[in-house]
Amino acid sequence: MLEIKNFVKRYGEKIAVNNINLTVNDGEICAFIGHNGAGKTTTLKAIAGILDFEEGEIFVNGLSVKTNDMEVKKQIAFVPDNPDIYEHLTGIEYLNFIADVFGLNNAERKENIEYYSKRLNINNNLGEIIGTYSHGMKQKLVLVSALIHKPKLILLDEPFVGLDPATSHEFKEIMQELAKQGITIFYSTHVLDVAEKICSHVAIIKDGKIITSGEMKKVKGKGSLEKLFLGLENND
Ligand code: ATP
Repeated sequence: MLEIKNFVKRYGEKIAVNNINLTVNDGEICAFIGHNGAGKTTTLKAIAGILDFEEGEIFVNGLSVKTNDMEVKKQIAFVPDNPDIYEHLTGIEYLNFIADVFGLNNAERKENIEYYSKRLNINNNLGEIIGTYSHGMKQKLVLVSALIHKPKLILLDEPFVGLDPATSHEFKEIMQELAKQGITIFYSTHVLDVAEKICSHVAIIKDGKIITSGEMKKVKGKGSLEKLFLGLENND
């Protein structure tokens, strides 16, 4: 589903991501882990088609994000690390706007909006102006908006930040259910114990380079993901 080949991203002279290769297959949940500034957001934005890059290639379902950007965007969802959304709209207006962008018919949008907004416990706030939402409520709305068009690849940048424990639990369940249906999820996180529990795969990035990746149980072995990560971080 997702193939990253020799991807390099520079900001001026600075190399943020340095020649990474990674494949995430259908139905896998892959955690993207690394220290602050390692290159996670840069990689996620490049996959989502909102950050240009000159070197390497990224394919979603066999389509290049460079040359088939609109086709790729129809198949993916990207949740950035900050839920900055249109503050003057109500929650339901925002979700309908997203449904319009993805061309959902009335029945589909009603069903999917109701289903996910109930599960993420934001259904009772959809009539309110987003500007009055708390950070966590905005995050819930953005997560609902990411799911309603049934994307094949879901990219999430630190999705659990700001979620209350019940919603966080529900979203983990949703992620696992979607993966069972063949949806691919690639997400960045600093919450290693959750990643260890829900992810089938993991990729660890350090200073712009992937230092290990693969099946979670093989990569971490008998120890914890945290122990592995700290060992790799301290090993220069
Ligand atoms: P965090 O865990 O803190 O979110 P990250 O792994 O997502 O970090 P990135 O945001 O991808 O890290 O940043 C990778 C590197 O690129 C960092 O050194 C950062 O300073 C640099 N960088 C990111 N965005 C820009 C930008 N717009 N201009 C210049 N440098 C940038």
